[in-house]
Amino acid sequence: MNKLDSQRQKEIQQAEELLFAGPQALGFAKGLFQGHFVADWVMPYPRIPAAQQIELDETLTELRQFLDEHLDPAEIDRQADIPRDVIDGLGRVGVLGMTAPKEYGGRGFSQMANCKVLEEIGRRCASTSVFVNAHHSIGIRALLLFGTHEQKQRWLPKLSSGEQLGSFALTEKEAGSDAANVQMQARPSEDGSHFILNGEKRYITNAAIAHELTVMARTPVPGSDKTAITAFLVTPDMPGFEILEARMPKMGIRGTATGRFALHDVKVPRENILGTMGKGLKVALTVLDFGRTTFGACCTGAAKTCLELAVQHANTRKQFNKTLGNFELVQKKIARIAADAYAMEAMTTVTASFIDRGLEDYMLETAMLKVFTTERLWECINDVFQIHGGAAYMADLPLERMLRDARINQIGEGANEVLTSFIALVGMRGPGMEFKEIYDTMMKPSRERMSKAWAAGKNRLGATIRVPDVPVQSEQLRAHARQLGRLIWRFNFAVNRALIMYREPILDMQLVQERIANAAMDLFASTCVLSRLDGEIQFARRNGDAAAPDHSAADLFLRQSFRRIRRFLAGLTDNDDKAVLTAAKSCLAKPTS
Ligand SMILES: Cc1cc2nc3c(=O)[nH]c(=O)nc-3n(C[C@H](O)[C@H](O)[C@H](O)COP(=O)(O)OP(=O)(O)OC[C@H]3O[C@@H](n4cnc5c(N)ncnc54)[C@H](O)[C@@H]3O)c2cc1C
Repeated sequence: MNKLDSQRQKEIQQAEELLFAGPQALGFAKGLFQGHFVADWVMPYPRIPAAQQIELDETLTELRQFLDEHLDPAEIDRQADIPRDVIDGLGRVGVLGMTAPKEYGGRGFSQMANCKVLEEIGRRCASTSVFVNAHHSIGIRALLLFGTHEQKQRWLPKLSSGEQLGSFALTEKEAGSDAANVQMQARPSEDGSHFILNGEKRYITNAAIAHELTVMARTPVPGSDKTAITAFLVTPDMPGFEILEARMPKMGIRGTATGRFALHDVKVPRENILGTMGKGLKVALTVLDFGRTTFGACCTGAAKTCLELAVQHANTRKQFNKTLGNFELVQKKIARIAADAYAMEAMTTVTASFIDRGLEDYMLETAMLKVFTTERLWECINDVFQIHGGAAYMADLPLERMLRDARINQIGEGANEVLTSFIALVGMRGPGMEFKEIYDTMMKPSRERMSKAWAAGKNRLGATIRVPDVPVQSEQLRAHARQLGRLIWRFNFAVNRALIMYREPILDMQLVQERIANAAMDLFASTCVLSRLDGEIQFARRNGDAAAPDHSAADLFLRQSFRRIRRFLAGLTDNDDKAVLTAAKSCLAKPTS
């Protein structure tokens, strides 16, 4: 292994250790990469407990009424501002402290219930859902997860009610996708009572309207010349806090206040550290796990709106003496949106349930959810846009706004390319380490190595021989379940093959990584769909529903998803990668004027 590769392995290992110290059970996504189907993570399909469902239904009724009466997404976009009375109203309904414990003024909702609330907002206005996410999903999340009782008591009640707003400030000029490259400095004072912060942050949602900002800055590591990231709770009334730009003009989600700010010798008391000193990256990545789950919920809501708009238009607009819905190429788009919206909801619910059940190690699943739902939503919007033809281009319909708003999703909270590579590399680490064990033993046999290599070999061989069982309850889903099991087996075989074929250089082969990550994402998505469908069939059966529920969208999703998986795996051996890279390198080498 060369120096660069071992550095990369170290980075991946560090990222995982940052998040999950100690022994852990095999999660669902990591299981896929090992050829296993970790059924108890995903089946049966999670349901919100009855008592909480009643509370959720009441909240949704209240929220819908409030949004119907007070939320005007077109006006928010035109004015590039969310009016204060909308923010206050969201606070009154409880949206701004939905998952905060009741003792700190929150509603104490689970993440699954919270996702339903965000789906409802995402259905109507992306500016508002991004604002709520910035405040609640990530802004006050570090305080909720890592704050001490005193910190929570002091800050949370006003933040939960919406009287005060929160923000999450990680991004800087040099720390975008490379989030660990934070340059903002936090120097301890002589007496150790506070830290002195200096630096700039950019692209921060709510920066200029927040009363509490979770700010990532670099602190010295005692006893060494190294530095590490620490999370601080900063308030804008601290001397030296300067807003450089309150609302950066932008293409979409124009109602949100995306800002830049600088800290000039800002004194932040030691009591304002969130979590452990030097563990700010762990804080940030854990916070983003929550953000990516509600991202999925907002995209689900927006996809449902796409479906409604598509159906409405296809049933009313006539061309060639027929409504558009009579044309197969329009039907194809509507069917695809319906299938994707079904899958997005299933995937969001299953992923949120991991958080509610207190499972460990769901960072791969939250990354998959974020990439999958944001990419699918982009396709959904493109389809409904096309169905509307020229009308979609006009500003009196919501489609051009929805298109502008949705584009940030593939960039924010981890660009999709970065997460795609992360999914493949973290997923492949388990089997990769087992192969390394076997390889090292073959090169330099020793008694100790032999036993480890034997265990690794048995595990790899076991996964190669066994097709995993996908335990659905409904008879009519058995064929889909068997097909999914076989595809997981094929996926594991393809991962093993890629690891053996490319070895360490695979760490830089993003075209290979992309196919592996895409296949893994579709395997997770179809698992969630199968689980949801199974749950619905069983529920209808228990309730004695005579009419068979309509499962056509779920059925279509499974068929299309299985087809995509086969295509991604086939692409591992049949592709134009060399030509792609040659053409790109040729362009990159030409000087630009
Ligand atoms: C409207 C808006 C709101 C935001 N809100 C917040 C907020 O509240 N808090 C916060 O901290 N940040 C926020 N951000 C910042 C956002 O998270 C970053 O923009 C994002 O992480 C990408 O960083 P970057 O813009 O510097 O892009 P870069 O890091 O420069 O990346 C540009 C592109 O390069 C490609 N790329 C980069 N690295 C790789 C790689 N390793 N492999 C392959 N391709 C790669 C990707 O296609 C990527 O899109 C916001 C941004 C916007 C636009």
